[in-house]
Amino acid sequence: MDYEAVIGLETHVQLKTKSKMWCGCANEFGAPPNTNVCPICLGMPGVLPVANQEALRLTALTGFLLNCAVSRFAKFDRKNYFYPDMPKNYQITQYDKPSTANGYVDFEFAGAVSRVRITRAHLEEDVGKNFHFERNSGVDFNRAGVPLLEIVSEPDITSADMAYEYLNALKEILIHGGVSDCDMEKGMVRCDVNVSVRPKGAKELGAKIEIKNMNSFSGARKALEYEIPRQIEMLKSGGKLVQSTRRWDDVAGVTEEMRTKEHAHDYRYFPEPDLMPFTPTDEWLIEVQKRVVELPLARKQRFMRDYQLPPSDAQTFVWDRPLGDYFEKIAKQSKNPKAVANLVINNLRAKLTESRTTFADLKFQPEGILELIGLVESRTVSTSTAQQVFGEMFDTGESPVIIVQKKGLAQVSDTGVIEKFCDEVIAANPGPVADFRNGKVAALNFLKGQVMKLSKGKANPNLAGEILESKLKG
Ligand SMILES: [Zn+2]
Repeated sequence: MDYEAVIGLETHVQLKTKSKMWCGCANEFGAPPNTNVCPICLGMPGVLPVANQEALRLTALTGFLLNCAVSRFAKFDRKNYFYPDMPKNYQITQYDKPSTANGYVDFEFAGAVSRVRITRAHLEEDVGKNFHFERNSGVDFNRAGVPLLEIVSEPDITSADMAYEYLNALKEILIHGGVSDCDMEKGMVRCDVNVSVRPKGAKELGAKIEIKNMNSFSGARKALEYEIPRQIEMLKSGGKLVQSTRRWDDVAGVTEEMRTKEHAHDYRYFPEPDLMPFTPTDEWLIEVQKRVVELPLARKQRFMRDYQLPPSDAQTFVWDRPLGDYFEKIAKQSKNPKAVANLVINNLRAKLTESRTTFADLKFQPEGILELIGLVESRTVSTSTAQQVFGEMFDTGESPVIIVQKKGLAQVSDTGVIEKFCDEVIAANPGPVADFRNGKVAALNFLKGQVMKLSKGKANPNLAGEILESKLKG
């Protein structure tokens, strides 16, 4: 019997705010332990939380970016549990009335566009971090109270690779939208993986097994690559799977059981009495909607469609947004956007990296690139000379036409001049000339190379080839 996997992901993302969710403490990474704390985020008795407006905006913005409905009535709830990194002994989250729900993410997978539906994206607060030393343990509360978005997917994912691509697409969207920096190294994105298996084609879901707290996408993929065959093997050998929570041991490369359903937490959710429900107005939502950006996949598809770019160029302009914006400004005025893309990706990007400068520092006008492409198209310069002209334009800011004039880089298309070069080369290379006349076609390339060399690379290569061939044959 064949089995299939059913996977849903809960992704936790730290929001890009200046301060924490309920207090004015800085939301920053890397500060010395317990320096970004106050009575509110330390959970002292008698303090009152005040919701961070920007976190509320970023939550609604995420809803728009993920094609969700953004609720006009959201509320906060207490999720009660006891753990040293949770100073209040409860986490403020959104239980039955989340800020956003019912969306989807489209992304490229296995050569097509896949869709994973989003159940909900709700706002909550992060917890602190435990550190275990040789003889004792410590808790750093700098992260406690940092705004966190939990994005829950429907179980639409069917493989480890698909989960991996979905996570990457989600991350791209959130970075593009300015919702989160999604820096994995800084723990800004974590996910819980829910996975079950069932006989292929079955309607009923198998026992749900949750793998908690994955802090890298490749880790999530590896855990699934281990867990799916484990579950299938178990069923095939007549075993029974029970709903449970497991952890991934990255070093050993295995998942281990943490607890089964009988020991599941009872969080005793109840409405947070210290916070009003959140009921955004039309004006507020319109303001947030103005921050919606074009999604990465839509941008890639548009660049391929509008400028006839190959997928790899379009992807480059998705990853490097400023480069793509710059390209687009020029490409709109060009009949040859691919030539623009080549110059921008191969030459401009390399120069910017090499000189550690940005677009603001560019000495030349964007029109310079159009002018340079024009010089190549009119065969005034060869493509290899164009690279040299670009370098000069980048360094000095001078226009390509001026550079070509000043440096005498114009291609020689004067047949009289080229004929002279050909005659010289033929006279100096009797061996290869004889070879060619005896039917060794490759000798022509060698002789053409000599003509180009003699002209210091300026002879029009096509013309040089034609003249040389007719002379050798004649
Ligand atoms: Zn605080």
